[in-house]
Amino acid sequence: MINVTKTFLPPQEEYQAILKQAWDIGWITNRGVLVKELEERLKKKLQVPNIIATTNGTLPLQIAIKALGLTGEIITTPFSYVATTSSIVWEGCTPIFVDIHPEYLTIDETKIEAAITTKTTAIFATHVFGNPCDVKAIEVIAKKHNLKVVYDAAHCFGVTYKGQSIFNYGDISTCSFHATKLFHTGEGGAMFTNSKAIHDTLFYHHNFGHQGPESIQGIGVNAKMSELQAAMGLAVLPYIEDVIDKRKAICEAYSSAFSKTELQSLKIRKNTNWNYSYFPVIFKNETQLLNVKAALEKEQIFTRRYFYPSLNNLDYVNKVSQPISDTISKRVLCLPLFYDLPIIDVNKIIALVLKQL
Ligand SMILES: *Cc1c(COP(=O)(O)O)cnc(C)c1O
Repeated sequence: MINVTKTFLPPQEEYQAILKQAWDIGWITNRGVLVKELEERLKKKLQVPNIIATTNGTLPLQIAIKALGLTGEIITTPFSYVATTSSIVWEGCTPIFVDIHPEYLTIDETKIEAAITTKTTAIFATHVFGNPCDVKAIEVIAKKHNLKVVYDAAHCFGVTYKGQSIFNYGDISTCSFHATKLFHTGEGGAMFTNSKAIHDTLFYHHNFGHQGPESIQGIGVNAKMSELQAAMGLAVLPYIEDVIDKRKAICEAYSSAFSKTELQSLKIRKNTNWNYSYFPVIFKNETQLLNVKAALEKEQIFTRRYFYPSLNNLDYVNKVSQPISDTISKRVLCLPLFYDLPIIDVNKIIALVLKQL
């Protein structure tokens, strides 16, 4: 059986050796040595000024909205994982969808201004599949209209844009370290900001509002990463470049096989150092997608309709059609992609896809 993804697991003895440090101290959560070490390593590796490790990649989205004091309407993308939209609604704000670019699949920055009203407080976009939004254009719009910018950068581990970490753009960026993501801690995530003041606010929000053991600075929640999660991250980190290289080779094989067909691949924005986090293909129509999916499943090869449905069709939002996201989400399929997917299987997948075109 071949799944759409497979979690990279480090040698178990390496994980255990790191865990032993926590055992020896008898301290497995509340920001122990392993969480702090992981944060320091990630800061260096990603070249970011601030990071807070968290227990998943969804709470950071909610905490970001809280920390920036966002209310009213938030402009967002319909083409993302459901957590992007649900976080906005969970925090009592209204998502206002702006359609996506047909090739980059990120929010169409040229359509943002038309969606701004007196109630708009922020732009909340996703660098989908690790492909950066037009962060420069969004920055200009945000400045002009006095809006905050939050990026759901769940797919973006290791991505750089114009020579720096994609996490350095916007007021806050978040990442997911879920087991299905490129870099993982089992469950986990992180929040990034260039501002020390915002960092401090994010920090107390993620730890019950504590400033010190006996002082509460404001409202909070518990989003702390545990030592067990951090140990996994520390064990995975030394392998991540190799994991990315292997995924790169698989993506290149898919790309070259599909380049001469009618299939549309993701167009990566210029000046991006991409991380090969997903391999989405966009079919001519939904029937073709369903045929390919069924043909692969017959061979025990499992793909994922990522992202489907388009989020403007959720029952708890004001449903307004988003023509590009609506059509893309019906036609996009992510193909299997993981570090040790043998090239022989990649070729088999390619042949099965081509046969259905
Ligand atoms: C995975 C994902 C999340 C949620 O992250 P978790 O760590 O699973 O909570 C949020 N947004 C996007 C775009 C994702 O792909």
